[in-house]
Amino acid sequence: MSSFLLELSYLLGSVTFVIGLKKLSHPESARKGNLLAAAGMGLAILATILFHEHNGERIGNIGWIMAAMGIGTLIGWTMAMKVKMTGMPQMVSFFNGMGGACAAIISMVEYHSHPEGAAGYFLVVFLGLVIGSVSFSGSMIAYGKLDEKIKDFSAKWLTVFNLVLLAVIIGILVVAVKSPETFGPSVLWILLALSLLYGVLFVMPIGGADMPVVISLLNSLTGMAAAFGGFLYDNQIMLTGGILVGSAGTILTVLMCKAMNRSLLNVIIGSFGGGGGGSSAAAGDQTVKEINLTDAAILCSYASKVCIVPGYGLAVAQAQHICHDLEKQLEAKGVEVYYAIHPVAGRMPGHMNVLLAEADVPYPKLIEMEDANGMMNSTDVAIIVGANDVVNPSAENDPGSPIYGMPVIQVWEAKNVIVMKRSMRAGYAGIENPLFFHAKTKMLFGDAKDTLQKLVGEVKMT
Ligand code: NDP
Repeated sequence: MSSFLLELSYLLGSVTFVIGLKKLSHPESARKGNLLAAAGMGLAILATILFHEHNGERIGNIGWIMAAMGIGTLIGWTMAMKVKMTGMPQMVSFFNGMGGACAAIISMVEYHSHPEGAAGYFLVVFLGLVIGSVSFSGSMIAYGKLDEKIKDFSAKWLTVFNLVLLAVIIGILVVAVKSPETFGPSVLWILLALSLLYGVLFVMPIGGADMPVVISLLNSLTGMAAAFGGFLYDNQIMLTGGILVGSAGTILTVLMCKAMNRSLLNVIIGSFGGGGGGSSAAAGDQTVKEINLTDAAILCSYASKVCIVPGYGLAVAQAQHICHDLEKQLEAKGVEVYYAIHPVAGRMPGHMNVLLAEADVPYPKLIEMEDANGMMNSTDVAIIVGANDVVNPSAENDPGSPIYGMPVIQVWEAKNVIVMKRSMRAGYAGIENPLFFHAKTKMLFGDAKDTLQKLVGEVKMT
């Protein structure tokens, strides 16, 4: 009976994961999807504690398990409650790394469970260890980079070193699977150390505009590592969860590569896109034109179509609600307003969708980049709110630019462009943006929330 209840709870848990994941694909249902999947996981954990048996023995150490879960929950809860919206990408990266670390630890522990195990068993143990460790250390570096505590570091020798290191890891793994006695148990520590090193070194050179690809790749690695844990324990729910995370991460990686117009191999061994460099049109003695709030309000109020392009600065300023107010004020004056969403705007996949959903912006108003670009030449005013790299024309017309080839929102096709930002500072890719000097562009300097608040006031009076 207890094994039936256990299997049933795993089945229910797996179904909640699938439904939860489906719900996560839409901002309106995402919160429910998250809760549903978490409830499924809770059910599976509870059922395992209550009903799991191994050689006729129930699970022991329940006190330790509960204490570990309690401490983990407390830390996770506190971090999630305290994190600022701008710190979300880092936190997601950190949590992802913890998943990788768990998978690696499972492999370390399970290695000793079946010393006479078959080659297939050891293969799964080592893959879980290697992939989990790479995901852990890589995510920690991604965390540091998103938090601006770690700078990109790239060098030709590093690319070669990384390839050699990867080959050595694979070589040791193959030998250890074929003849376990070659290294003995010390292979665990060798693979752990080399994989942790590889995770650090493979993420170090990737930076700037390529970060979204790495982040989604690390997500998919954690999912795969968890799935190997599921294999080891012959546990359906862990397997299903791991496969779902791994495949969702892989799909996201493919989408991000498409969004950046880069191949995955190019991102991993190319190490373009790092901050700093960039041959893009230097500011030189070019000057920017500014616009005041009254003129900006008149321009927008008398337009027929206005496009708002949100970027990372919208998240920094927490200006999503006031942005929605501007949209409503303009619509009340008969202006058609839409949002152009770049897939890598912000600091995590879907960042802008999450922010705007929080402000209750109707989802149909969010137009994906390709469609938005088709609408741009019939748009009277494009208002850029804290976006920079995703509207940088060098991506299209400067082969020397680190972001050359990345599709961007072609705001310069609109009749007028207003850029809201605080200064002339560069965006995440660390490069100059010639859009700011474009004949159609006018700068509206200041914090996005403050500027939008004043602009809404002016629009009301216009
Ligand atoms: P950017 O980082 O290119 O630019 C953001 C701009 O916002 C800055 O130039 C900054 O200028 C401005 N800004 C910051 N704070 C404020 C504020 N309070 N008010 C007004 N403006 C503000 O952002 P984008 O969204 O255009 O591009 C995202 C970049 O991040 C891409 O390079 C992408 O590859 C990368 N990335 C994306 C990830 C993802 O998954 N989406 C993950 C990791 C990196 P100023 O300081 O002058 O105000």
